[in-house]
Amino acid sequence: MTRDPTSKKSIRKLACEQGFDLCCFTKPAFSSQHKIQLDSWVAAGMHGEMSYMAEETRVERRKQPESMLESIKTVIALGMKHVPPPYSLDEAEEVKSSGVIAAYAHGDDYHDVMKKRLKAFARDLDELLGTHDQRVYVDTAPVLEHALAERAGLGWQGKHTLTIHREHGSYLMLGELFTTAEIEPDEPTSFHCGSCTACIDVCPTQAIVAPFVVDARLCISYLTIEYRGFIPEKLRPLMGNRIYGCDDCQLVCPWNQKAEVIELDHLQPRHENILPALSALFELNEEGFRERFRKSPMKRPGRAGLLRNVAIAMGNSQNIAFVPQLLIALHDNEALIRGHSAWALAQLFPYAMDGEIINQLTYHSHQEKNNEVLDELHLALKNIGVLNE
Ligand code: SF4
Ligand code: SF4
Repeated sequence: MTRDPTSKKSIRKLACEQGFDLCCFTKPAFSSQHKIQLDSWVAAGMHGEMSYMAEETRVERRKQPESMLESIKTVIALGMKHVPPPYSLDEAEEVKSSGVIAAYAHGDDYHDVMKKRLKAFARDLDELLGTHDQRVYVDTAPVLEHALAERAGLGWQGKHTLTIHREHGSYLMLGELFTTAEIEPDEPTSFHCGSCTACIDVCPTQAIVAPFVVDARLCISYLTIEYRGFIPEKLRPLMGNRIYGCDDCQLVCPWNQKAEVIELDHLQPRHENILPALSALFELNEEGFRERFRKSPMKRPGRAGLLRNVAIAMGNSQNIAFVPQLLIALHDNEALIRGHSAWALAQLFPYAMDGEIINQLTYHSHQEKNNEVLDELHLALKNIGVLNE
């Protein structure tokens, strides 16, 4: 076992040279509490449609990091800071004609950046440690990365389930390197949320159903990024203008108010992703979408998913200037966009009082072939008061 503090220091130095801000060590094991939490979260169906999270073999692998690499002895937990949102919660909500994007997605896709850095770090480790097997992971389903980070002393898991570091707060991205080299583990982090409940109280959809338990089916991050279907109607008004992810529970966390301001290289936020105009995003065709979000994590929900989210934000905006674009979107090739545009038009109707909204919704309700969109058109006409319950 590497008990030599100089070696750990050397490994940390290599990690730092590759662009990691935090580097800690732990054994590949979990407490029984973590395993019970994972089982009950999956049993309650809180993973939503992320079925890969609930597959039995994957759940078992997540509980046993030792199954991911034969003869594994050590997990190196690594953290990279990212730039926090450059606005407060109130400022973001006030600009109703712009979309709010989670801060981690303002720049290039961190998965790509981190993977490159992890591979370079792994090459450096080969030179330093000699013969050992290793494997790297970034945001990989079978790895319980927040639990590993806590065991390694990188930070504690806050009541919103994300990792918090005492000095850097929670605007962190995590990666892991599993190795067969035996390195003395660091002490786990102690818990510093105390009696605070700010994240639980602020969550717009009350997705933090208990401390340390987020019901993904209610979480705006899941709904806007991972979920592929029609967003449940009762949640749409609660999403406000959040079009990709959600930082609310981090924005209110006192540990982020204390975090130092940072400057970054590859993950520098792109200007066009800071509160972009909804109207410009809604104009994007497939090619424009691919070009606009090249190398960005925002390509994940695809054009249909992102414009679905934009339509909801338009519906919540009280801004009747969006009506013409939404009427055109009733013809879109994507059912998700047509359906959510119908809902948004009904939301804007009390402000616009425009008969063309009723005419077009009625016309499309006679033409539409897709049953889910048809349901949305009928719902929109009911919400306006044209159809009875
Ligand atoms: S990301 Fe947003 S919706 Fe999800 S738990 Fe945090 S505050 Fe709630
Ligand atoms: S807001 Fe409060 S309870 Fe939530 S993670 Fe931060 S310190 Fe913990």
